[in-house]
Amino acid sequence: MKVLKFGGTSVGSVENMRSVMQLITDGERKIVVLSAMSGTTNNLVEISELLYQKKLMDAKEAIKKLETKYDSVIETLYASESYKQKGKKHIKEIFDTIKSYTEGEFDQNGENAILAQGELMSTGMFNYLLQENGFKSELIPALDFMRIDAEKMADEKAITEKIKPFIEATSNTDYIITQGFICRNIEGNIDNLQRGGSDYTATLIGAAINSEVVEIWTDIDGFHNNDPRFVENTSKIDQLSFAEAAELAYFGAKILHPSTVLPCREKNIPVRLKNTMNPSDSGTLIDNKPMGRGIKAIAAKDGITAIKVRSHRMLMAYGFLRKIFEIFENFKTPIDMITTSEIAISLTIDNTRYLNDIVPLLEKLGEVEVDSDQTIVCVVGHNIIHEKGFEKKIFKALETVPIRMISFGGSNHNMSILMHSDYKKFSLNALSKELFE
Ligand code: ADP
Ligand code: ASP
Ligand code: MG
Repeated sequence: MKVLKFGGTSVGSVENMRSVMQLITDGERKIVVLSAMSGTTNNLVEISELLYQKKLMDAKEAIKKLETKYDSVIETLYASESYKQKGKKHIKEIFDTIKSYTEGEFDQNGENAILAQGELMSTGMFNYLLQENGFKSELIPALDFMRIDAEKMADEKAITEKIKPFIEATSNTDYIITQGFICRNIEGNIDNLQRGGSDYTATLIGAAINSEVVEIWTDIDGFHNNDPRFVENTSKIDQLSFAEAAELAYFGAKILHPSTVLPCREKNIPVRLKNTMNPSDSGTLIDNKPMGRGIKAIAAKDGITAIKVRSHRMLMAYGFLRKIFEIFENFKTPIDMITTSEIAISLTIDNTRYLNDIVPLLEKLGEVEVDSDQTIVCVVGHNIIHEKGFEKKIFKALETVPIRMISFGGSNHNMSILMHSDYKKFSLNALSKELFE
């Protein structure tokens, strides 16, 4: 069985939802994972912000505005009065839930519950659309089988066990619809797989049921060799290895959630990226075959903070690095890049939640310098560690850019370069010119 995931734009309008219906209804039984309609999760984040700030009138207004949008989608999505009524009832229940959080204290659980409503709406609406059009479809509730553990990591074992009865119970159904992004945590409360997490839902389900392929349907024809939001004339890559795709997703390529390929990589299940607006295009295949040579793509990850610790004593005295890493570990803060010299270590983090706790502890070990608004630009290709000459091109492209850190040799497939975010757009363009033209 295949797993197909459709992103926000793909279900972002009545017209697009109809295209998705056309696309999936080929008579072949499949699982369809949907995101919220584009813009909805952002709206729900805004509503939550207003509730945290106790701006109740503004929150209620924002909720009303979103509800009006959904009411008008329902009006045009269904042909029959009976399905319009079903759709309206579904949307009303969702908005009653959202409105219930405008009373009483608002906390993380409230926010997570609100953020989940986008996917609950899109899947409910789409399931009715299929049924109204005579297709055999059924919803399976992601909140009953998607799990994260105490570390907020996907609990693949629990997911595999919990999804099984749902798949068995829907054996007579052609199209099994479920929500991307949302899950429950170790306390049993509603949670999510972080922004963009529907991609990850799809590959987790693919791995759980050993699907033949996971297809990620989006608004572009596949993985491009640079970020099309910042660089013109990027081109599509036909194939990437799991390792290359994992590096690119981790280092910021927005087309994939950072963890997307991991579940499928372990089970060697191919992942194909496809364009909902141009379904005949073959897209990008991600599998275990390293193909092609040289640099394949460039990506950038913003919101990075660089931290330098300069020791008065010898840095390389053993135990020093352990002490530094332990501080980050104790605050559950992952480190992305690391470089060392004899007297200093520089590293980067993207989660600054505990920075104010971490810095005083680092200061006990040496002088500390913190630089925010940094970007990691990542250049990826198969086994580039064994290639010659590309380093020269990278440095030529970036000759006018003040580089803060460089990391190379950690994996065989990438070079990561840290710079102030102001230089990102220039750097992505200059690298494209030097490496691909
Ligand atoms: P979806 O809502 O379908 O999940 P996303 O917006 O999350 O879609 O991801 C698709 C978008 O990712 C594209 O429209 C494109 O602007 C952006 N993007 C960033 N980097 C790349 C890249 N290297 N290749 C293709 N798209 C990219
Ligand atoms: N709707 C969620 C988001 O906007 C998840 C997703 O689209 O993948 O982040
Ligand atoms: Mg996405």
